[in-house]
Amino acid sequence: MSYNLAKQKILYNSNIKIENYKKNNFYGLVNSFSLFFFFILFLYVISIDVNFLTNFLSIFFISITVYKMSFILHDCAHNSLFENQILNNFFANFTSTLLMINFLKYKIDHLKHHKFLGDEDLDVDFSEYIMTNNVIFHLVGPFFGSRILRFIKKNGVEKQMIKKNTFKIKSILMIILFQLIICIFISSFGKNLENIFFYYGFLATVTLGLSRLRAVAEHGQFIHKKKKHTVEHITVTHKKNFLENIFLYSFNFNFHFEHHLFPNIQSRHYPDINKKILNLHSDKTFKKSMFLTLFKLFFKNEVKT
Ligand SMILES: [Zn+2]
Ligand SMILES: [Zn+2]
Repeated sequence: MSYNLAKQKILYNSNIKIENYKKNNFYGLVNSFSLFFFFILFLYVISIDVNFLTNFLSIFFISITVYKMSFILHDCAHNSLFENQILNNFFANFTSTLLMINFLKYKIDHLKHHKFLGDEDLDVDFSEYIMTNNVIFHLVGPFFGSRILRFIKKNGVEKQMIKKNTFKIKSILMIILFQLIICIFISSFGKNLENIFFYYGFLATVTLGLSRLRAVAEHGQFIHKKKKHTVEHITVTHKKNFLENIFLYSFNFNFHFEHHLFPNIQSRHYPDINKKILNLHSDKTFKKSMFLTLFKLFFKNEVKT
């Protein structure tokens, strides 16, 4: 059974009425500001230059915060972070400028990921979660920089977009301004210039590495290259423990199975939806822990290509 057919079957059996799940602004504001708060807090700690270790650890935690900020962009891409569309657009623009991400391209690519999930040619994230060669290299490589080029390409500007005038000088100037401000604080006002190197280094490795791990855990398990389009479920929801909550998830992103079924519902509702469709889950679509899933993939090499 194809993924889309399986999805339709689940939707038909779920009895969930989307119109009952309303969006509000409070949820988006509280969760977004909590991430901005930590970003600024770590930036402040680095700027006062306590010692090398504190600076280094703070930069590491900033890279995790940045990874989590991508969830803001994700929910904005579905227009579901806020009830108010102006807030939605503002947070999308602000966060993408801070993260140096081309939001329009991100949004187009992500909606393709939803529409063509599991399609080697049309799902732009396919190569992110499928493991074609070596599982260990696929999972660990990004932490050593293997994803940098792909990331630049993915967030770059296509010629077509320049023609449509979506690529504005103003946004480039804003990106430069944001990065300049960050560099001033991160270098403790010019005292520790090496921190700038650590900051961008962590963004290019830890931040991208974490999103690779998540993508593989959520989508990479049931797709075997030779048998594509023949699996029922290729999306997994994970329960989260304390550590996973800190390092891997915000905005209920762990309910990825529910998200792919109802992508435009505000993510605050996913735990409730999860309870309602529990009988539709199997142990292949609802797992205990993402760390455990990755551990099994890594050490037992469960996915064969
Ligand atoms: Zn997905
Ligand atoms: Zn999505």
